[in-house]
Amino acid sequence: MRALTWHGAKDVRVDTVSDPEIVNPRDAIIKVTSTAICGSDLHLYDGVIPAVKPGDVLGHEFMGEVVETGAKSTLKKGQRVVVPFTISCGGCFHCKQQQYSACDNSNPAEKQDMSATLYGQPMAGLFGYSHLTGGYSGGQAEYVRVPYSDFGPIVVPDHLDDDKVLFLSDILPTGWMGAENADIQPDDTVAVWGCGPVGLFAIQSAIVMGASKVIAIDHYPNRLALAKKLGAEIIDFRETDVREALMEMSGGIGVDAVIDAVGMESHGFAVDNMIDIVKQKVGIGADRASALKQAIMAVRFGGKVSIPGVYGGMTDKWPLGAMMEKGLQLRGGQTHVQKYTKDLLAKIEDGTLDTTFLISHRLPLEQASEGYKNFKEQQNEWTKVVLKPGMESGT
Ligand SMILES: [Zn+2]
Ligand SMILES: [Zn+2]
Repeated sequence: MRALTWHGAKDVRVDTVSDPEIVNPRDAIIKVTSTAICGSDLHLYDGVIPAVKPGDVLGHEFMGEVVETGAKSTLKKGQRVVVPFTISCGGCFHCKQQQYSACDNSNPAEKQDMSATLYGQPMAGLFGYSHLTGGYSGGQAEYVRVPYSDFGPIVVPDHLDDDKVLFLSDILPTGWMGAENADIQPDDTVAVWGCGPVGLFAIQSAIVMGASKVIAIDHYPNRLALAKKLGAEIIDFRETDVREALMEMSGGIGVDAVIDAVGMESHGFAVDNMIDIVKQKVGIGADRASALKQAIMAVRFGGKVSIPGVYGGMTDKWPLGAMMEKGLQLRGGQTHVQKYTKDLLAKIEDGTLDTTFLISHRLPLEQASEGYKNFKEQQNEWTKVVLKPGMESGT
């Protein structure tokens, strides 16, 4: 089959690789119909994630048609399914508490050392995201093996196009959980740093949850325009002093909740690497680390801090004093995708949530490397790229 494979920093190619096979009775094989490039795929593209090997198939946002099932899979051939990026068994200690991204069983023991060293316990398995998270082949391919297929994938009705449901795999639940972690109450004023796909879905979710005012912060005009269309007020941080503006917009008190949907993009996972980047490359390093610090400064006393943005290592100059003296609540975490898929599918079906507005480009899988390059280099125009394995080139 054809699949997008990693060969090194800024070097991803569509190659012919072996077809996936059922290796466990709970597996299913999915024929991919749509798969997206995620902001976190750019960390792999930039070569800052350890334990990626040449030839690894990337992609963790995908959906398609069931073509083969193991003896214990509950899926049926021909069903259309969206697959969560988190691989979760459904039955372990963490899965039973709906903390699916902390599944104890999905990351094979021999792959756990590095994440256990960084975090104290190993991470769960994820699709197409290095051998740190299990080394599973991803979904930017014609076919993909889906473990625990009796638990994770959600069957979608035929009347909903791929574009409407694909993002149930990651960014929609991630944005939703980002808003949920901000514990939004009616009348809350919420500020969101970053208008990438996750930030935009966090904005939409915060509005659905009843926030009276949502303020979006970014510098790409097109992304700010999308936020405005959703109903947010906007701040271009290149033109405006963010902290002053937020104080003014919140009646001098500070905003009730802040959501950091920026994360430490382009920063390595390894502890030493992270500290070095922050200390040495003061330009980008300080800017990006400062989004969260700025958020902590701008939130009111007793306010809520949510971090859906991806961080992998450590940072220094952490405003611990502000956390304590302001009495802040802070929540983050990899998304527990399976906890949200059913409710969010219902919200897509009844029109409460729209997921199609941010797709800027649809490309054949064969043009995936072009998609990565442009998504990385032209962030204003390329807001979200969907790859279609069956699509004709150049359409
Ligand atoms: Zn993603
Ligand atoms: Zn589990």
